[in-house]
Amino acid sequence: MSNAVETLLPGREPGLLIGGDWTEASDRIEVIDPATEDTLAEVAAAGEEEATAAVDAASAAAPEWAATAPRERGEVLRRAFEMMIDQAEALAELIVLENGKAFADALGEVRYGAEFLRWFSEEAARVGGENRTAPAGDKTILTRAEPVGICVLITPWNFPAAMATRKVGPALAAGCTTVLKPASDTPLTALALGDILRKAGAPPGVVNVIPARGSSGVVEHVLADPRVRKVSFTGSTEVGRHLMEVAARRILRSSMELGGNAPFIVFADADIDAAIDGAMIAKMRNGGEACTAANRFLVEAPVAERFTKALAERMGGLRMGPGIDRANQLGPMINERSRRGIADLVEAAVDRGAAVAVGGGIPDRVGYFYPATVLADVDPGDPILSTEIFGPVAPVVPFASEAEAIALANDTEYGLISYLYSGDMGKALRVAEALEAGMVGINRGLVSDPGAPFGGVKQSGVGREGGREGILEYLETKYIAVSW
Ligand code: NAP
Repeated sequence: MSNAVETLLPGREPGLLIGGDWTEASDRIEVIDPATEDTLAEVAAAGEEEATAAVDAASAAAPEWAATAPRERGEVLRRAFEMMIDQAEALAELIVLENGKAFADALGEVRYGAEFLRWFSEEAARVGGENRTAPAGDKTILTRAEPVGICVLITPWNFPAAMATRKVGPALAAGCTTVLKPASDTPLTALALGDILRKAGAPPGVVNVIPARGSSGVVEHVLADPRVRKVSFTGSTEVGRHLMEVAARRILRSSMELGGNAPFIVFADADIDAAIDGAMIAKMRNGGEACTAANRFLVEAPVAERFTKALAERMGGLRMGPGIDRANQLGPMINERSRRGIADLVEAAVDRGAAVAVGGGIPDRVGYFYPATVLADVDPGDPILSTEIFGPVAPVVPFASEAEAIALANDTEYGLISYLYSGDMGKALRVAEALEAGMVGINRGLVSDPGAPFGGVKQSGVGREGGREGILEYLETKYIAVSW
């Protein structure tokens, strides 16, 4: 085992975290380092029996945790925040090893992920009900917020820490107990976070972590358990759609953070240098493996050539290599399947007439690397523009008018985030209102913030994480009709 694994999950091949104890399972998952293609660790994989044991533990812990003072719940989260920050470098190394991203991106993720614990440690004590006068004037309506109950939390591999804390934070603050099922490519970070929360004082059973192989059977099994009350999922639209169907069988509360296809619009009146800086963040944070990644660069015709050239220069200057070497800025993709998908999209675009301004092609080296790539003159009907690329490829499409930019931007089933750059704030706000997206970045290439409501419209999801809205996903409203 590598140092970071040994530091955070010492002395053992990691088991499942159930009821506050490490539990063995008959099956194991091999965790691969995508930079070397070597096996990093073997992790216990839950089957149906272990998944039921996790729900048993969450169920046993639920009444006491719901009755624990909100301030006390908040203090557990606050301690976990501090522990994450104290161990930020080791956690970042663990993320680099199992996910492949550049070290700076991993450290950024740990700090961002920890902030959800701090934010929701503060929100825990702010949950309230209302005392209203009924419209008829002669009665009182009391409302109170209660925890939803046992929550199943399912997370993807691209942000193994932040997607977990964005769910566990509000769930614990609201008084819910949890079963966290991380992606099988990246289970180590979730296990390390489970350990941190345990050491921070989360009582046994409040946070259970169960990696699973071929997750679909285990997830459907837990979602069929009558004690489970909610599913919160972050991942692809395809799997989210399926899980909504599964959740419908038991009318489970569902939060869905799904895929994206973000347009990045650059108007001719924008500060082009600033737009390039923003484009580099929006495209290249996490090596392009982000739901918020700019997927299509829509650039007003008079500046399209200048923008493409400058972007290609910056992209071409990135240093590619294993993220564990802190000088590297672009790590490998998560696995061969993902890299192959990216390469196929680029090859098909080139066949349709796109010009490669920089990058392109799978390099001849160990690890699932794909170079930073810019494609010019992309045909507006090219599949690369309607598919979530999830890699370091930037297709550029020129547009002629504001109306055309809006039409192109909205021409997708997704609606997570849009970016736009313009020197005219009136126009920027007008366009922002017309964009079909849950989030819009104006003259900014990064919008994620624990204090802001993150989420999408259309097929990018249902619900919001973070902000004041985040905790509401884990609360039910009870109305008490009173006569006094
Ligand atoms: P994914 O394949 O949908 O997997 C996400 C999670 O669901 C993993 O834990 C996975 O487990 C599990 N899973 C897969 N198939 C399942 C099934 N049939 N039943 C139950 N669980 C199942 O997505 P991914 O490839 O990990 O992540 C990339 C996607 O996530 C992209 O589309 C990205 O846009 C989206 N994403 C969205 C947000 C957001 O906030 N909107 C944030 C980050 C990522 P296994 O690993 O075992 O398959």
